[in-house]
Amino acid sequence: MPELPEVETIRRSLEPLVKGAKITEIKVNTPVTQPQATLFCEQLTKKEILQIARRGKYLIFYLDDALVLVVHLRMTGQLVYYPKTAPPSKHTHVIFVFENGAELHFTDTRRFGRMWLVPKTETFGIPGLDTLGPEPIDEGFDKKIIADKLARHKKMKIKIFILDQTIIAGLGNIYADEVLFASGIHPERRCEDISQKELAALCCAMQNILKEAITHRGTSFRDYVDGNRAKGEHQDFLKVYQRRDQPCLTCGKPIKCIKVGGRSSFYCPHCQK
Ligand SMILES: [Zn+2]
Repeated sequence: MPELPEVETIRRSLEPLVKGAKITEIKVNTPVTQPQATLFCEQLTKKEILQIARRGKYLIFYLDDALVLVVHLRMTGQLVYYPKTAPPSKHTHVIFVFENGAELHFTDTRRFGRMWLVPKTETFGIPGLDTLGPEPIDEGFDKKIIADKLARHKKMKIKIFILDQTIIAGLGNIYADEVLFASGIHPERRCEDISQKELAALCCAMQNILKEAITHRGTSFRDYVDGNRAKGEHQDFLKVYQRRDQPCLTCGKPIKCIKVGGRSSFYCPHCQK
């Protein structure tokens, strides 16, 4: 699933390509939009894209209109820009055609990705978006907010805690494992057992790793590509994720994989206490 660094890379790659582009036609092949196809197309036609923002794993397209287009790629969604007409694949669900003949294709093999056209207001009326926690890479990221939340989720396992989008926005399985490794915390530790020092290390690791992954233009394991269909490079820098039985890069002991809250969790039993 594209996580914060991947969604941010898609945003950065797409924005210069579609900024100022006018949508002349929309083709919806699969019902992944809200409202449904006819109204969705009617309301988006002739609109110009002014800016693309990101919040957590959501992309927000601001238009010259009272509506905004919100996209969540979920597991396998891709948004790819083509400078001219391109043939759709079996899994291309929505195509935006621009005035200059370029196209933006939304492709998704698992079909969990969604698009919403909603009024531009303080809240978007999209439950997962309206309830997002703070952005970990923002300048004003407040560790105190996380400390307060930690105190309110005493029995929760730390991995589940940092994956909860209402607590911190944008982390998924890859970066949660990497962040816990970097901060030396076992994924099954209870929130109540995390010291202030460990919390500081966790927040610091979160910011550093997410920013580094953006510099590497995200992690491409399976489906993820940016708006130009280019793969990211951060997979070459991962320390624990998908490295089961391989030697820990710090201590040399084998990386283990356990299930935490149903999610595969890669960690080093020696380095993470
Ligand atoms: Zn180790």
